[in-house]
Amino acid sequence: MANWNLSFDFAAVMLIAIMLVFFFDERMVPMRSHRVFLWILIVSMLITTLEILATFMARHVDIIGYNELNAVLSLYTALLHLGPLTFSYYLLCLAHVDAFRDKVLRPLFIVCFAAPLLFNIINLKFHWVFTFDTAYHSSYGAFILYFMDAIVIGVAFLAMYREKRAFSFLRLRPLLFTLLFVIASCFVQALAYIPMLNLMSAMVTLTLFHYQQNAGHVTDMLTGQFNRRFMGEFLNSKFSDHSSFGVIMVAMDNFKYINKSCGVDNGDELLRQVGLYLGGFRTPSQLFRFGLDQFCLVVDGRYMARLPIVAEQVRERFRHSWAMLENARITMSASICVLECPRDAQSYDELVDALDYSMGIAKKVKRGSITYASELDFTKVRQEKAIEKSAKLAMDKRELLVYYQPIYSVQAQGYNSAEALVRLHDEELGWISPEIFIPLAEKNGLIVEMGEVILDKVCAFIHSCNLSDTVIKYIEVNVSPVQLMQANFASRVKSILEKYDVRPQQINIEITETATIGPSPVVYDNIYRLTEYGITLSLDDFGSGNANVEYLNRLPFTIVKLDKQIIWDSFKDRRAKISLEHTVAMLNELELSIVAEGVEDEQSKTLLSEIGCHFLQGWYFSKAVPEDEFLRAISMQEVK
Ligand code: C2E
Ligand code: CA
Ligand code: CA
Repeated sequence: MANWNLSFDFAAVMLIAIMLVFFFDERMVPMRSHRVFLWILIVSMLITTLEILATFMARHVDIIGYNELNAVLSLYTALLHLGPLTFSYYLLCLAHVDAFRDKVLRPLFIVCFAAPLLFNIINLKFHWVFTFDTAYHSSYGAFILYFMDAIVIGVAFLAMYREKRAFSFLRLRPLLFTLLFVIASCFVQALAYIPMLNLMSAMVTLTLFHYQQNAGHVTDMLTGQFNRRFMGEFLNSKFSDHSSFGVIMVAMDNFKYINKSCGVDNGDELLRQVGLYLGGFRTPSQLFRFGLDQFCLVVDGRYMARLPIVAEQVRERFRHSWAMLENARITMSASICVLECPRDAQSYDELVDALDYSMGIAKKVKRGSITYASELDFTKVRQEKAIEKSAKLAMDKRELLVYYQPIYSVQAQGYNSAEALVRLHDEELGWISPEIFIPLAEKNGLIVEMGEVILDKVCAFIHSCNLSDTVIKYIEVNVSPVQLMQANFASRVKSILEKYDVRPQQINIEITETATIGPSPVVYDNIYRLTEYGITLSLDDFGSGNANVEYLNRLPFTIVKLDKQIIWDSFKDRRAKISLEHTVAMLNELELSIVAEGVEDEQSKTLLSEIGCHFLQGWYFSKAVPEDEFLRAISMQEVK
């Protein structure tokens, strides 16, 4: 030991010292892991300095004395084993587990904390852990301690794996990398005692400092407040600890308008000012920038009673003006929502949905004032989330069903085509109507994948039942405007058709214009490529207010599907009947094929045939049915 080269240790001391300076220079991050990281730095610093001290003492042991050296070495060895323990504790904190509070982990951590201290005190007399004559020798006690180190690190690793959802992918990789370093270091330490270990540990700490503890990662650059990603981490840990807390969400009204009319610089200044104001409350709270013009103030559960007071203060502040650049001032209102957790949300995802829902309502009906979540009914949001989850699950488990509703041809006096309609069944929720889950899937983007699965199933069905040998010439498939907005939609359709040897003429795509997504260049391009390929198009829900004549003239539809409602109205109201007759006449003149939907009785069948509809679809003929039932129906031609 006396002849060790200490260069690596000196380098480690400098590295840790720099990290300590950076640590205190940056803002404090209010997370347990951040505080524990400081402990890692302190323990590493102590281990390294004690190693240097012990080496100096060993060189001059004759003057200093063996007892003094033994005492320093005992302290050093004890700390050496507290290093892995602190590190494991830190990893568990990242996984939102408090090892000293957890019922299972607590005894293990207490034993692993006490053992190095106890062993090294006893070592002063019995030399269980190490001996020092002219050199440092590990004894069996040291191996027990190394074994314990391996156990705590292994446990931390397992816990991290179990809680892997708590880590984002990018941050997990450097963590795993550093973990390998630590395991390797333990072996190096145990087998061939090399004083490079401290520098290695310092480098591991540096990696962690950069990837995990970097305050820049959790700060919003513009306002200097904590960012949304950190809010997720902060609140996930609060939910894991079962802590209660309140959230005051503040959304500036008309911020986009201010940005446009007063300029981006003024908009930025305004955000900074609002951030500064909200961050300055004396009630213990943490501020986060949640969205462009939204802030969330998270208030500790002990001060729940102060939530309405703070919210009222914020509202009052927004009655007064805010300073902008060049002495200008502006007044704007803010919509404020107040939530209490766990009452209003039991997880971070639930909280985000609840915030979204509450703010949606606040902006609509209580703009500029305070909305309390306790006054809102979250049943609808929860139900929608349950349906979304069920749709995702059905996709993953490949349990989405496609039913077929035959379409009757007036001229052929029998079925000639069919519409594919998606069906979703959930064990708890029962059958869920596509009218409910399709709009949700459109909102969260799932419709793109879902649409492909549906088309895939339809093509597989056409292929397996040899559709060209039946009376059914083509199958109409509903396509959402969101799907048409995907640049590769046409080529995806083509490849699915080719996969099952389906001719383009066997597929007709139904499109409904929606107010939100009008035809864009991408939509036009997809439609052009699909029709060029040979697929025909239907304009769905014509007359419902969504699809109109203008749309009809712009795109190459060959079929128009009259909405159920205008058919039903025409039987109740004379004026509606006249306008239906004229619509059908006009569509005939435009040489378009007409499908009437919602045909529920004989009388409708006769009348709609007489006024010039070419195809009829409705419960009078058949509801949408599973594949085998559909095949039976078309083979028997049970047409009335
Ligand atoms: P839609 O495209 O207008 O489909 C026709 C709807 O009317 C179907 O409802 C069908 O079951 C129902 N229907 C047919 N004949 C009658 C009748 O005589 N009386 C009554 N009362 N209803 C009749 P469904 O299956 O519940 O679908 C609702 C909507 O969900 C569809 O309206 C369509 O917009 C959407 N949808 C269904 N399947 C898909 C799909 O695979 N993809 C997409 N993107 N949307 C789909
Ligand atoms: Ca349709
Ligand atoms: Ca329709």
